[in-house]
Amino acid sequence: MTLSSFESVRICMGELDEYYEDFYGYGSRALIVTGKSSAKNGALGDVLRILKKLEIDCIVYNNVTQNPPIESVSECATIGLDFKADFIIAIGGGSAIDVAKAASVLITCENPNDTTILFCDGLDEFIPVIAVPTTAGTGSESTGSAILTSHEQKTKVSIKRRVYCKKAFINVNYTIGLPDEVTLSTAIDVLSHYIDGYMSTNANLETDALAENGFREFSKLLQNIAKRDFDLNFRKKIMMMSNCAGHVISVTRTTLPHILGYPLTYQKRVLHGFSCGLLTYKFLEFHKDTKKKTRLLDLCGFTENGDFGLFMKSVCPNPNCTEVDIQRYTDTVWADRSRLHTHPFDVEREDILNIYRESLLI
Ligand code: NAP
Ligand code: ZN
Repeated sequence: MTLSSFESVRICMGELDEYYEDFYGYGSRALIVTGKSSAKNGALGDVLRILKKLEIDCIVYNNVTQNPPIESVSECATIGLDFKADFIIAIGGGSAIDVAKAASVLITCENPNDTTILFCDGLDEFIPVIAVPTTAGTGSESTGSAILTSHEQKTKVSIKRRVYCKKAFINVNYTIGLPDEVTLSTAIDVLSHYIDGYMSTNANLETDALAENGFREFSKLLQNIAKRDFDLNFRKKIMMMSNCAGHVISVTRTTLPHILGYPLTYQKRVLHGFSCGLLTYKFLEFHKDTKKKTRLLDLCGFTENGDFGLFMKSVCPNPNCTEVDIQRYTDTVWADRSRLHTHPFDVEREDILNIYRESLLI
């Protein structure tokens, strides 16, 4: 059992300007990796101003989309290579941070179009990445993973290389203009990370302590979620919890709700957090560790799993799946069943089908 393996990512909270000197030390040419929203929420402007002050040249790649495909990493890395970037600044949600992390590996290779390197074991060589998160959910700024869409596998896949950001600059103000459905989905992603981590084969004393604290904190936010009342206090708390839950899954990895959620996101474009949330209730019913299940539900403020299921159904939109859909998702998951090792008990194909069926059809 691994007792401690948290990576140290320097987390800086507050206004970016307070930390401008922290952008020093990684080189004189930066590749900024982002989507379109960072130009509106202030994050891109803040970074550009700091780089100008420090006389660091930069180029902006702002083509990141939700659930980014593997191909977009090549596109991004090619721009970084041509520019001779020394380091990357990722600005955005999990999608931008994940593209940046994967591109940081490809930039060290001769051929940025050869993405196979991302999916094989080897030396973890990459150029430094700094993150400026603008959503509060994925915790990608503190995990070593990058999740990309594989059109070939018709699901989402994690790169094998572990890329940790050097630093993350967390300013809750960037999240104020998030659409409610993204705020909601990312909040459910935070809870899913705590739950996946707590119920994973790789859970340990430290991750359990963090997760249990996360469940207690989440119970205090239930009213905000029910009323869609996302005030600044809610946003601050969920941002901190997101980062902390990132530490948890960084050690434990995610388990069935995430693995089963990926084909749902791929096929039905369901937001990542909602995909996990929709599947978590039946996952807990299926899980054999009754002691942990009871404790987590109690800490989260639910008297039984049924209440938790009702809560999730009230929060996560119904993706309207059919029996044909869920057979297809089951095939996708089963084709790559080695990923299921983070579940501490045996999982059969029928079990996966049943979790999908009972979560999505009933
Ligand atoms: P996201 O896909 O990064 O962003 C969702 C949407 O919100 C996008 O349309 C984005 O627009 C917009 N947006 C982002 N910040 C905004 C802001 N401050 N104001 C207004 N709009 C904003 O969402 P996410 O939930 O943060 O990331 C999900 C991805 O992370 C998934 O691919 C998931 O698999 C992955 N993930 C990774 C890890 C990990 O450890 N690496 C963990 C969990 C999840 P723009 O694109 O235009 O900016
Ligand atoms: Zn997640």
